[in-house]
Amino acid sequence: MAPEGKSKKRARPAKSGESRTLKRKEQQESLAKLQKAVDELDPKSADIHNFTDLPLSAATAAGLRASHFESLTDIQARAIPLALKGKDILGAAKTGSGKTLAFLVPVLECLFRQQWTEYDGLGALIISPTRELAVQIFEVLRQIGRKHVFSAGLVIGGKSLKEEAERLGRMNILVCTPGRMLQHLDQTAGFVVDNLQMLVLDEADRIMDMGFKSAVDALVEHLPKSRQTMLFSATQSKKVSDLARLSLKDPKYVSVHEAAETATPSTLQQHYIVTPLPEKLDTLFGFIKSNLKSKIIVFLSSGKQVRFVYEGFRHMQPGIPLLHLHGRQKQIARLGITESFTKAKHACLFATDVVARGVDFPAVDWVIQADCPEDADTYIHRVGRTARYQSVGKAVLFLDPSEEPGMLKRLEQKKIPIQKVHVKETKKKSVADQLQNMCFQYPELKYLGQKAFISYTRSIHLQKDKEVFQLKKLDLDGFATSMGLAGTPNIKFQKGEDVKRIKNRSRAELSSGSEDEFDDEGHKKKKDEVRTKYQKMAERVNQDVLSSHYRKIIDDGDADEDADFLSVKRVLGEDELDEAGKAGEAALEAKKIQLGKQEFIVDSHRREKLLKSKKKLLKYMDKGQKLVFDDDGNAHAIYELQDEDEFKAQGPVDELRRQFVEQEASKVKEVDLEDKQLAKEKRKEKRAKRKEREREEELERQGMRGEKGPVAQLAGGEAEEDPLALLRSLPIAGGRDDDSEEDSEDERPKKKAKKWFQDDSDDEREKAKKAKKEIVMDREPETLEDLESLAAGLLGN
Ligand code: ADP
Ligand code: MG
Repeated sequence: MAPEGKSKKRARPAKSGESRTLKRKEQQESLAKLQKAVDELDPKSADIHNFTDLPLSAATAAGLRASHFESLTDIQARAIPLALKGKDILGAAKTGSGKTLAFLVPVLECLFRQQWTEYDGLGALIISPTRELAVQIFEVLRQIGRKHVFSAGLVIGGKSLKEEAERLGRMNILVCTPGRMLQHLDQTAGFVVDNLQMLVLDEADRIMDMGFKSAVDALVEHLPKSRQTMLFSATQSKKVSDLARLSLKDPKYVSVHEAAETATPSTLQQHYIVTPLPEKLDTLFGFIKSNLKSKIIVFLSSGKQVRFVYEGFRHMQPGIPLLHLHGRQKQIARLGITESFTKAKHACLFATDVVARGVDFPAVDWVIQADCPEDADTYIHRVGRTARYQSVGKAVLFLDPSEEPGMLKRLEQKKIPIQKVHVKETKKKSVADQLQNMCFQYPELKYLGQKAFISYTRSIHLQKDKEVFQLKKLDLDGFATSMGLAGTPNIKFQKGEDVKRIKNRSRAELSSGSEDEFDDEGHKKKKDEVRTKYQKMAERVNQDVLSSHYRKIIDDGDADEDADFLSVKRVLGEDELDEAGKAGEAALEAKKIQLGKQEFIVDSHRREKLLKSKKKLLKYMDKGQKLVFDDDGNAHAIYELQDEDEFKAQGPVDELRRQFVEQEASKVKEVDLEDKQLAKEKRKEKRAKRKEREREEELERQGMRGEKGPVAQLAGGEAEEDPLALLRSLPIAGGRDDDSEEDSEDERPKKKAKKWFQDDSDDEREKAKKAKKEIVMDREPETLEDLESLAAGLLGN
């Protein structure tokens, strides 16, 4: 199995029987040796610094080496040894400290040591709260698992259940989002997870919180209890109830930064500025204008905020590429945007909390929280998008004066060091006038602004922490004006029970990121609880000629909101004008039309067209009647009423109904049982056959090509035909480019940033050398399909 051993073996002449046993023996021996090393490993040893200090399979070691991972981070050094020994783990370490490898390495090793094959089914399940993070974990898995023969897949939705289902049966390792995975477990026949060895929850506290509760509980129900479970997060909770929900067994708590002075990376500089809500957009625009040569993420509280700010700023052309990301975008668009931002040297990404956790964008300079995070944990995760793994970063939090005291208290409680800075007045750029002009020019923007305003206000209203978020203290009129809106949208909050229900609704449903998680994964969609006259107005049909088009563009339910809607403007053709309601003007001479038995008076083209539409025709025309024929050839209607007396004679209605239901239920049960039994037998048979075939093939191969076993063959691979060749050329997650010097310091934002702030302290850290991190992008999978077909091809399937 070890690559080194192969050439030696290949050189030997083929003596099938004997050599086969020999090879088996060698394999067994090396496995036993590895197992012994793991058993003898002291997890507390202070001598574990590099991956080479760990008892790992040759394949994992090679994968790590090829991905340029050498030394271990703290969490890796402490968690991996325990995990290799099969312990359940609660892992806590700051953002960007390498938690991903801390669970991926043990996953690969656990399956390898058990000689897992595709016939053994699903061996490990890794759950992520968002699709973005799932994709990223999957990428890292592909990188370090490239020398293994397991198959791995992504289950995150975005394509039909059926397509995904077809692949599932073959997967050994799955990275998934909870809702989608549950759907498969519930609905995909023949998808067996009885063999699962390992369950991993990345961003565990998030997955265990209210938003995912029902999905996760139901999901865990499907899984076997005898498994290894690992939970990782920067903000780990040790809640006993959570541990019970996952039936953890004597979990080891591995927290490497518990004693640290701060909860955030030491290479992260954190600032906040107090900027009243009506000045927030000015401050933000001014900030972006002053940092054109940087990579910035701006967090906002909702998808609508994100869209409004993005569209508004885009048209003001600040001079830096702008991107936006939120949960309502289509999967492919989301992937594309994440990829663009990953590659970009300078760019500003407006995003919801959909990328607040786990996502590892390289070399982000600034994290701006333009809308205050709901709590300190969210703050920690958002700022954690920068200053990752030895690199530096800066974060700025915008606070309304009313939010300042409360939020500062929360941050202090969580050991978050943050410094107040002031914005130079000259650096603020008033954007209200421009926005107002644009809202006038593009009614779409105005509608979006209204929606953004409402969603912001609503999000404040629904926040749990009332010490921080006080709607009454916000200058909402000023905010509306600053967005370019002519008046303040009139918001009515529902009274009584409903408000309570909204308040109690989980965080997940509140943040637009997760709201989408649920949408996409077939859960019920969130309805607008708070409705305004503007919403109602926008919903009204036929406001003007363009209304149907606006509605298409700005409708709440528009699944894909990523289209650059301001450029959607187009001149309507004649037909469309007709359709869109020119009816009144183009009056026809009134005439009569006969449809079926009814007569209609028609006085416009539009009405005539409408009436002649298929739908209407179907409604009014005589559609005939379906009949069935009995044995004697007499026609009957499909449903005929039984003679009432006869019916009554059979007994009371309720009794009849009960009997019928019982009868049918027992039929279903029987058939169900049979089906299950049959499916089980078939699976067994299939498995046995495959194994047999595999054995024969192996024998044949050994006869033909020496002693190379199937595993070694796949793992070694012939350079060109190797299905993994492509995988291996993919970027290395976290791999650093050797030529990173070319990204010279002078392009960094530090000087500019200084100017933007009137910072009282002369910050020495500014001058600290930046540990540059640049990812080489040889070849990227472009679509989810790419990713998944790569996954299916992964490791020799
Ligand atoms: P976390 O999950 O703790 O936030 P990640 O696992 O995403 O952190 O890792 C953060 C970055 O550090 C990634 O870019 C990753 O490639 C890099 N990294 C992780 N472990 C190592 C290591 N042992 N050596 C070098 N880089 C590493
Ligand atoms: Mg992580």
